[in-house]
Amino acid sequence: MKVARLHGQRDLRIEEVEDVPLQAGEVRVNIEAALTCGTDLKVWRRGYHARMLTPPCRFGHEFAGRISEVGPGVTDWSVGDRVVAANSAPCGGCPACRRGQEQLCADLLFLNGAYGESLVIPERIVRRNLLRLKPTTDFRTAALTEPLACVVLGLDELQVNPGDRVLVIGSGPIGVMAAVLAQVGGAEATLVGRGAERLTAARRMGISQVIDLGTGDVETAVRSAEPGATFDAVFEAVGKPETWAAATRLVRPGGRVNWFGGCPANTTVTVDTGLIHYSSLTLRASFHHTPRTIRRALDLLESGVLPIAEWVTAEASLDELPAVFQRMDSGSSALKTLIRPRG
Ligand SMILES: [Zn+2]
Ligand SMILES: [Zn+2]
Repeated sequence: MKVARLHGQRDLRIEEVEDVPLQAGEVRVNIEAALTCGTDLKVWRRGYHARMLTPPCRFGHEFAGRISEVGPGVTDWSVGDRVVAANSAPCGGCPACRRGQEQLCADLLFLNGAYGESLVIPERIVRRNLLRLKPTTDFRTAALTEPLACVVLGLDELQVNPGDRVLVIGSGPIGVMAAVLAQVGGAEATLVGRGAERLTAARRMGISQVIDLGTGDVETAVRSAEPGATFDAVFEAVGKPETWAAATRLVRPGGRVNWFGGCPANTTVTVDTGLIHYSSLTLRASFHHTPRTIRRALDLLESGVLPIAEWVTAEASLDELPAVFQRMDSGSSALKTLIRPRG
């Protein structure tokens, strides 16, 4: 079968590999839809990910498909079942898991290989994080489960309440999902970001206020577009120390900030201690997802309340994938690209 394998920095190859036999508890999934992701772009640029993968290896982590084979001992699943799997599963037994913070599991098992004709789902993911789709749910919708689950956790941890004014910094897929989801929860969202096409899409999705950052800085752009605006909560979805710092200056006294965007390794952020103290700010960060938010994300996607069509803005074949990453690297305006590995 044909798969994409990452060999190192900016070195993604489409290769033919042998199917491996299934072990107890595993299932094989024919991948019908895979989605590109900002995390994959970061890993492609860097050539590795300390926790998620070590090249040469299969690549991609957002996918949905159909079970084509079940391993020994599998009783809950059958060939033909339409499914989505998370890209990880927690152990369930370590202190973090017992606290209900499974995203911090000391032994989180990661799965990569969305960009390929099929993928073996490890026993633990089959047991903890494999979900069945409703007959009416299409694969490309289901493949959004993982990124949406991260956003669900991020907004839960930011404690967004109905009526809150939320500022989302960043117009990538995560930023627009966060703004839309905050509004679904009854908040009023302002999104600030770059890229005419993405901002137009954000407006079409019904985000209350969309601010074009242009070439300026976030703080100036927000203050000039909305003079005197106060934000109860700020969701940072860029992942740069300067936008992390700007978030602390844009939230109201007593407000909450979620530094959701992961910054480059070994960077630090400088914040005004007086501001944090006298404004009693709550600053936090969120990482990844939990089995609960994976289920919540699929429920949301299947409920039909989200503008899913706007989130997947391009389509490509598996053979075109290396070129898709080149385009993402040079700042392509697509939010997410759908890859159909089986043509
Ligand atoms: Zn992702
Ligand atoms: Zn654990």
